[in-house]
Amino acid sequence: MKIIELFERKKLVYSFEIFPPKPTSPIERVYDTIEELSVLNPDYISVTYGAGGSVNNNRTAHLTHLIKDTYDIESVAHLTCIGASKADIDDILNELQEKKVNNILALRGDLGKTGVGEFTDSQMLKRHIRDNGNFGIAGACYPEGHLESNKDVDKDVWVMEKKEEAGAEFFISQLFFDNNVFYDFLEKTEKQGIKGPIQAGIMPVVNKRQIERVVSLCGATLPKKFLRIMDKYEHDKLALRDAGIAFALEQIVDLASAGVRGIHLYTMNNPHIAKTITRNLDFILSSINREAK
Ligand code: FAD
Repeated sequence: MKIIELFERKKLVYSFEIFPPKPTSPIERVYDTIEELSVLNPDYISVTYGAGGSVNNNRTAHLTHLIKDTYDIESVAHLTCIGASKADIDDILNELQEKKVNNILALRGDLGKTGVGEFTDSQMLKRHIRDNGNFGIAGACYPEGHLESNKDVDKDVWVMEKKEEAGAEFFISQLFFDNNVFYDFLEKTEKQGIKGPIQAGIMPVVNKRQIERVVSLCGATLPKKFLRIMDKYEHDKLALRDAGIAFALEQIVDLASAGVRGIHLYTMNNPHIAKTITRNLDFILSSINREAK
C-alpha cells in the first residue's frame, strides 16, 4: 500500500524510523528491534539509507522487505541520490520493486566528499522514481530551514512545492524541539499551497552527546526547558532518558491535539524508548483516529 492511502484513511499517521547496523555489525542485530517495534502497531516503519556504502544500502532494501513481508507492516525505504548514477538508482529501484517495497523517501543526501553525480537535487530523483515505477513517494522538509538555505524557511517551503510537483505525496520533517517552530512552518506551507500531509519528526533525547551531534548537523533550536533537562541529567543516563521521553511525549501530545497529520518517531533503534512513548499515546491516538475525517 502507498502511505498516502493511510493518510486518506486516518487523521493521524504514526510511524517509526530505524537505521541499518553498520556494515561491520551483523544485520541480525536489528531484528529484535524490529520485532519489538512491530508489536507497537506503527502505521509504517522507515529505514534510513546512505552511510556505510553499498552494503548498508542493500540492507535498507533487505530490512524494508523484512518489515513488510514478516510483520505485514508497511515500510518506507529512504533513498539518496548524491554521487549516484542513473544506473545505480535503477538497480536499487529494481531491487525494491522485486522485494515488493512500495514506498520511497526520496532524498538528495548530504553534500560530502563524493561528487554530485547525475542527480543534482531530490526533485530529479523524485521525477525519476515517479516515471520509472509505481512507488509512493515522500520528501523531506525542514521546519527551521535546511542548513544550506541559511535558515530561510520561506525558500525551503518554496522548494517543497517543487518537490510536490516532482511527485512527493507527503512529507516527513526534520527533527525539532519547539512545537511553535513547527506550527509557524505549517502556516507557511498552507500559504504556499502545499497539499501533501506533513509528518512531524520527533527525536527523544537519549544522551547529551548524541543530541549535540544531531543538532550540529541539522541546526535545530534547543528551547530553554530542553537545555535545562540536558544540563541537569547529563551525567545520569537513565534520568536523562526518562526526562527525554517525557519531553518527547509532551511534544507529541501537543502536536496531536493541534491536529497535525502525522508523527514520525526517530527511534534510534531503541525499542524501550519507542515502547514507553507509544504505550503512553495509546488512547490519544485511538481517540484521534476515531473522529470522523
Ligand atoms: P533537496 O530537496 O535536494 O534540497 C537540498 C538543498 O537544495 C536545500 O537547501 C534546498 O533548499 C535546495 N534546493 C533544492 N531544490 C532547489 C531548487 N529547485 N532551487 C533552489 N534550491 C533548491 N540523509 C541520508 O543520507 N540518509 C537518510 O536516510 C536520510 N533520511 C532523512 C530523513 C528525513 C526525514 C530528513 C529530513 C532528512 C534525511 N536525510 C537523510 C538528510 C538529507 O539527505 C539532507 O538533509 C540533504 O542535505 C537534503 O536532502 P533533500 O532531499 O531535502 O534535498
